[in-house]
Amino acid sequence: MFKGAAVLAVSCGAVLAGCGTDGQAESKDAENEQIISNLVEAGFPENDIMVADGNVYVGLDAHVTLEASQEMLQSPVETQEQYRTTNTVGTSVTRICVNPTSSFNSYSRLSAGLDAAIANYNSLGLRITFQRGGSGCTANITATTMSGAGGSAGFPSGGRPYGTINIGTGLQSYSADVNEHVITHELGHAIGFRHSDYYNRNISCGSGGSEGTAGVGAILIPGTPSTATVGGSIMNSCFRSSETGEWTSSDRTALNYLY
Ligand SMILES: [Zn+2]
Repeated sequence: MFKGAAVLAVSCGAVLAGCGTDGQAESKDAENEQIISNLVEAGFPENDIMVADGNVYVGLDAHVTLEASQEMLQSPVETQEQYRTTNTVGTSVTRICVNPTSSFNSYSRLSAGLDAAIANYNSLGLRITFQRGGSGCTANITATTMSGAGGSAGFPSGGRPYGTINIGTGLQSYSADVNEHVITHELGHAIGFRHSDYYNRNISCGSGGSEGTAGVGAILIPGTPSTATVGGSIMNSCFRSSETGEWTSSDRTALNYLY
């Protein structure tokens, strides 16, 4: 999820060598090398794998943990058109607390966008519900900030959602609806959604090619279109300033099928 330039431009160059901070560099580098090795073995194109801020990403905004990369090797990879990763959130997870950091809460548009994104999910009557903060949840996601006007997250592993969404503070200057859209999108990654146009980012971004099909799986969800269109899904790679923040019909179909 990026508006124009990728968030991966952050601090260290988008190269396959590790670039963690000094103290943790060595073990983090070794772990990242293993993750990258797993991704390549799983068939992910090397030029779609990047390291930024010491984390490994695929498809430009999806963080991959070591555990998730290992699960990819164990799972049969399907290469149909779209939508979900091989790993999704298991049935032991029923309520997910999304816990904003104080920095996140200091940006009014981000904060309101989180409420709206949570309401989006809860409006669908899924087996998974979201709540802002609090306790009594079976899984937790931290909502924190990053630079830029995009976002990043990761994919589920071990039957659990990815534990962090990063939301760009530059979104404070975008509409409430765009904030709702981006946060809904990143939560979508955390529970297992690929980009709807992962096979051709040019559709929503105006440039770019395929994110690859194999690394995290790209499994067509029954009842959804196999081709993406501008504005056709909240899970398109890039957003427009005119986004409404609301689900499309195929988003609803996909969520109702999975959860
Ligand atoms: Zn995304």
